[in-house]
Amino acid sequence: MPKLTLLYRDEMVPADEPANYSTSPTKPRRFLEFLRQSPLWSHVNVSEDFAPLTRDQLLLAHEARYVDAFMTGTPLALAESNGLRWSPAFRDSVLLTNGCLLAAITAAADHPEQLVMAPVSGFHHARPSEGSGFCTFSGQVIAAVRLYRERGLRGAWLDLDGHFGNSIEDTRRFAPDLNAAIAPWANFNPSGSHQAYLSDLGDKLADLAGRAAAGEVDYICVAHGADSHEWDQLGYQCSTDEWLQAAEMVYQTLAAIRRDRAQISVTLALFGGYRDDHPASVLGLHAMDTALALGHLAGAGDLSGYRAEVRSPR
Ligand SMILES: [Zn+2]
Repeated sequence: MPKLTLLYRDEMVPADEPANYSTSPTKPRRFLEFLRQSPLWSHVNVSEDFAPLTRDQLLLAHEARYVDAFMTGTPLALAESNGLRWSPAFRDSVLLTNGCLLAAITAAADHPEQLVMAPVSGFHHARPSEGSGFCTFSGQVIAAVRLYRERGLRGAWLDLDGHFGNSIEDTRRFAPDLNAAIAPWANFNPSGSHQAYLSDLGDKLADLAGRAAAGEVDYICVAHGADSHEWDQLGYQCSTDEWLQAAEMVYQTLAAIRRDRAQISVTLALFGGYRDDHPASVLGLHAMDTALALGHLAGAGDLSGYRAEVRSPR
């Protein structure tokens, strides 16, 4: 049976997780447990084959002063510039989630017939000199620069989080070969809300399909952040039907791209999602997105009927 390779290790979640506004540090474990209780679980293979990023790898996208502050917790204000409490356990979990993303994109590139997921978030607002918006390191940039320098691979990001992923654009001066690793056209964040959002996404997907047909991209990453849902604490863009329609559009396009160019790999990540009133709504959206990806890209049959509860806020 076709499978989704899910890269997960328990240590991705800090053992001493303090109360933070963002509960994203515990999301990998909660998402895995959610999938385990769902009909999608029979399509999932869990792999623990990845390692924490090293200091040298972090330096691909960040200044040494910031990297060393986060590694040591000193100065604390810089170590906590992401808006999250620092602890040695949290540091270790961040290094592992960043390593998870690099390993996922690498595994997909090695085996493009496989769909690979890093169940992670916390990258796309980080800057070379500091963290920002619950994001510590630019895992996307680190992975992209490494894959470009080692293999010449060029990536595209479909970032459907509710918030613009500034880390790629903010790192272009710091890491000039990022312009080749993720070209200026290749960092997609739809704008607008409701029908305007879907229309903009459609235009961006058409652009991506044209670029892929022209051989301008080797791998594609999708992060359908659940904070682009209108009931999210930090979101406003899409109703549930629109959010799922966006996922359907993405995976239909990627399936069409891969029918012509099967060597273009696809990697999934989670990114944002904030529902203190009903955290399961966030996990349910991610799971329904995963079901559509499985159906279109992993030959897992029609899972489009899979529904998880997305509860209206009180
Ligand atoms: Zn977000």
